[in-house]
Amino acid sequence: MAKDLVCGMDVDEKTAKIKTKYQGQTYYFCALHCKEVFEKEPEKYLKKKRLFTRFLDWLSSDREKEHGKPPSCCGK
Ligand SMILES: [Zn+2]
Repeated sequence: MAKDLVCGMDVDEKTAKIKTKYQGQTYYFCALHCKEVFEKEPEKYLKKKRLFTRFLDWLSSDREKEHGKPPSCCGK
C-alpha cells in the first residue's frame, strides 16, 4: 500500500491511476484533486513524511541498542 500524502488515505499502487513522479519517486493519490494539491507544494507534504520516517528510524535504532543486535527471525 502507498499513502496519499495529501489526505493520508491508503492507496493501492497496483490499481491507482492517479500518480505523479517527483525527484525520481512515484507518489500515488486517491483523487486528481490530491495530486494537484501535492504538485503545487510537494515539499510541504514530503517534509511531513520525512519527519515520520525519521521518527521510525529513531524508534528502531533505539530498540537495537537495547538488545545489542537486530532481531533475527531465522536464527542459526
Ligand atoms: Zn487523497
